[in-house]
Amino acid sequence: LDERARACLLTSRHKLEEIMKPAYLMDHMISDEAITVEEEDMITNQREQAAALVDLLLKKDNYSFRSFYNALLKEEYDELANLLKEDLPLTQFTSSSQCPVQTLLSEGGVPPRPEAFVPRPKEENEIREKLYKLQKQPGWVTVFGMAGSGKSVLASEAVRHKELIEECFPEGIHWLSIGRLDKPDLLAKIQTLCFRLEQNLDSQQFHRPPSTLDEAKERLRFLMIRKYTRTLLILDDVWDSTVLKAVDIHCRILLTTRNRSLADVVNGSKHEVEVNSGLDEDKALEILSQLSKIEMYRLPEEALSIVKKCQGSPLAVSMIGSLLRENPDRWGYYLRQLEKKQFRRIRKSSSYNYEALDQAIAAGIEDLSDDYRDLYNLLTVLHKDVKVTDQVDTEDTLSEFVNRAMLFVDSQSQPNVFYLHDLQLDFLLEQNKNQLKSLHKKMVERYVHRYRDRPLTSRDEESLYWIRYLAYHMANANLFQELHSLLFSLDWISVKGQIMGPAHLINDYLEYGSILDKENNEMCSEFQEFLSLSGHYLEQRPFPDIVQLALSQPHTSEVYRQARLLAQERAKDG
Ligand code: ADP
Repeated sequence: LDERARACLLTSRHKLEEIMKPAYLMDHMISDEAITVEEEDMITNQREQAAALVDLLLKKDNYSFRSFYNALLKEEYDELANLLKEDLPLTQFTSSSQCPVQTLLSEGGVPPRPEAFVPRPKEENEIREKLYKLQKQPGWVTVFGMAGSGKSVLASEAVRHKELIEECFPEGIHWLSIGRLDKPDLLAKIQTLCFRLEQNLDSQQFHRPPSTLDEAKERLRFLMIRKYTRTLLILDDVWDSTVLKAVDIHCRILLTTRNRSLADVVNGSKHEVEVNSGLDEDKALEILSQLSKIEMYRLPEEALSIVKKCQGSPLAVSMIGSLLRENPDRWGYYLRQLEKKQFRRIRKSSSYNYEALDQAIAAGIEDLSDDYRDLYNLLTVLHKDVKVTDQVDTEDTLSEFVNRAMLFVDSQSQPNVFYLHDLQLDFLLEQNKNQLKSLHKKMVERYVHRYRDRPLTSRDEESLYWIRYLAYHMANANLFQELHSLLFSLDWISVKGQIMGPAHLINDYLEYGSILDKENNEMCSEFQEFLSLSGHYLEQRPFPDIVQLALSQPHTSEVYRQARLLAQERAKDG
């Protein structure tokens, strides 16, 4: 309760207790949901009912105070109402017989639930818990996660909560859809917000709309601090920290974003909630069931495959669900589109900002700087058997992708393991399907660049990746000359053999031998033979001297020739 309203209640208490009869007043207040039936019972059981009601009001919020004031008017206690009138706190909702929470939310532009809806209590509660931290002091709650993971739906669901609103944000909740916008658009949004807030004040004053972002910030600061202290602003889908700077005015803000670190640039206490990228299978099936209007147990078997293919992504599942409602016999067709990575076919006309699944994912990639975008695209060609570790770049770079929910990290494992969501990988594969060769080539270039000055011998994650998959990238980049020099080199055999053992080496010849020139066939079998014959030595530790081993090969073979060259070099170096 506002200080002024409180003080006014205390000074008027004597008069109130003397004149008012609480029973009828409480009827009005119950229908406003300003007090509960239990509270009414508690008061009715007291001898001094009026005093008990005042005590209760002192513990309540501005909304209850206003409801009490309205009740006095309705019961024609005009004199008492006048005592309170001057200090009436500002609340958004006027007394109405409608559910005040609903009124407040729709006045603030909080979107309604989507047509098909499944609750996610764990995440909703987590957001509410963080919002409660803004009860006493201003600050920021960042809700972050991948495109279409359900952040906006969760944010709106979290605030659809009577106690939370009453206890923390009785003066209103205002929702702003941000998206990727430029400064004039941002200014327009804040102008609209200021207009909305000023209108609610019923003030007769006319303000010209602020004409610059700085002016808008000052106007908003004035409004929020003077009149709307206990108000929550929800900024939905923020991409750029400029937006946050424009509202860095010591107020209460919840933002949804793909970019975890956006709020780093602003002041005040900060809290965050990470949203899982996918729903449990049961919940995702439930969405399909609601949208297709087929009961859960009668869903066709493709339903589960669709859910699995989307890894439970709420956006993907609900887009497919809406399509199925219009084309109920197309379960197999949409599953195949997903399998063929035809995300463009998966679209719907809905309130969601992006028309098709591919646009939602593409927006994240477009927002990256050129360097980062190049790196992200390289993830397309990482060997599919590995999780992304730091082969592509340093952990810092990967963390940037993680911050933007374009990559995930399994923090349970040490060292950290990064991985892509299936939808993201599929998207990359589809988008880059004509560039695969050049992406493999870029991977090889990265290798060359990284190991220009240091030998590839260590056992760190990165080296391990190159030892396993360098040949794979060279082969797919059509870098046959390089592949040739790599596979038929005793140095390489020594490094790879030492770390991975002879079987992996032999496997390289089997796998890539055929794509090398015909004339290399012989060389290929020479190396293979060498490895089969000395395989058991290569298992030994300490690792044997590969040159010595190779010198025992037939003198006509390439293996022998290289060994002799290396031996001569050693002799020269002393
Ligand atoms: P984000 O803000 O993370 O990009 P949204 O919250 O806008 O994602 O959700 C994208 C779409 O996914 C929504 O339009 C809705 O159709 C669907 N969706 C998200 N959450 C739920 C949910 N809890 N129940 C049903 N559908 C959901």
